[in-house]
Order: sequence, then structure tokens, then C-alpha cells
Amino acid sequence: MNPTLRQMLSRLRNSTVVLGVTSNLISLVMLLGYKLDQSLVMSVVTIICSILALLGIMSNPDNHSGNRFYCPICKAHTLHVDVAEEKLCSICGRATEST
Ligand SMILES: [Zn+2]
Repeated sequence: MNPTLRQMLSRLRNSTVVLGVTSNLISLVMLLGYKLDQSLVMSVVTIICSILALLGIMSNPDNHSGNRFYCPICKAHTLHVDVAEEKLCSICGRATEST
């Protein structure tokens, strides 16, 4: 895959980016004269992003994008998500002490 395209697609795993792109697309569609319930669309996208963040598929918007720690189960530095003030490995779900 083209490295530039891959980098662009990887940014879509950040919910802040998805919400920003959605907001701009809504503005564009409304500018072109189409009627759209902006708050409804943003609510639906926000809920979907929240679910994907809880599942560890998307990064939590409150985290830094580089939220990687060593996981002894996966034996690698993996993306960790904040759940109930603990950092959980997004691959195996094990809580890891941040170092
Ligand atoms: Zn792990």
C-alpha cells in the first residue's frame, strides 16, 4: 500500500481526527445546499467513536496517540487504553504499570 495512504488511514484510528473530518464534511454538504441534522450526525459519530475506543480499536481522545507500554504477556510494546484509571493492553487486555 502507498505509505502516504497508509499514514492517512492510520490517522483515522484517532477519534479526534474522525470527529474533525466529519465536522468538515457536514459543513461542506450544508454549504452545497443539502439539509442535514448536524447535531444528530455528530452524536452518532461520537457514539461510534466511543464504542470503538472502548473496544481498543480507536485511540481514546483523552490519551496521547503514542500511548505505548511494554506488555509482558504480548512481549512487545503495545498500544494501551485507559480504562477505570488503569492502562490496559489493547491486544490482550492485561493491566500494565506505566513506567
Ligand atoms: Zn498484551
